[in-house]
Amino acid sequence: MHVKILNNCIGCSACVQINPEIFEIFNNYAVVNDFYIENNEELCIDASLECPVGAIIVEMN
Ligand code: SF4
Repeated sequence: MHVKILNNCIGCSACVQINPEIFEIFNNYAVVNDFYIENNEELCIDASLECPVGAIIVEMN
């Protein structure tokens, strides 16, 4: 799985609250810690669905 953040992110932190191992806010913008995606795939999908601006793109390998 690959997770990326589009540049329309508004830094609302919803993804961080859902999945703090994967997402963090840096300079008012979400960034992804790829190292922890494995075994956290469902929470990545949940965060993608909850993002208010659809900025989290989840790509299945
Ligand atoms: S939920 Fe979406 S808009 Fe909010 S910080 Fe995460 S990526 Fe950005």
